[in-house]
Amino acid sequence: MANQCSALNPDCIAKKRTPCPALEHSKNCWEYDWVPLIKGLPSEEQGKWKLYLVEHCPRCPAFCPEMKSLLARIQADV
Ligand code: SF4
Repeated sequence: MANQCSALNPDCIAKKRTPCPALEHSKNCWEYDWVPLIKGLPSEEQGKWKLYLVEHCPRCPAFCPEMKSLLARIQADV
């Protein structure tokens, strides 16, 4: 079920800001471990990604329990 999120939310900003890392790995956003990626960014970029994911994902048609867990990890670990 690769790239299902892309079909559910063709306007995902994550695909516009940078090439989406999940899509680059043929994964849905909730299947990709965003924590190491975000941790490796400069602090300003970390904040932008966290803000985007936390504000937009819960309202997205692709949001699911797995993505909710991922957001909790991002907020706790980054
Ligand atoms: S859940 Fe978040 S990252 Fe995934 S498609 Fe929706 S807005 Fe994009």
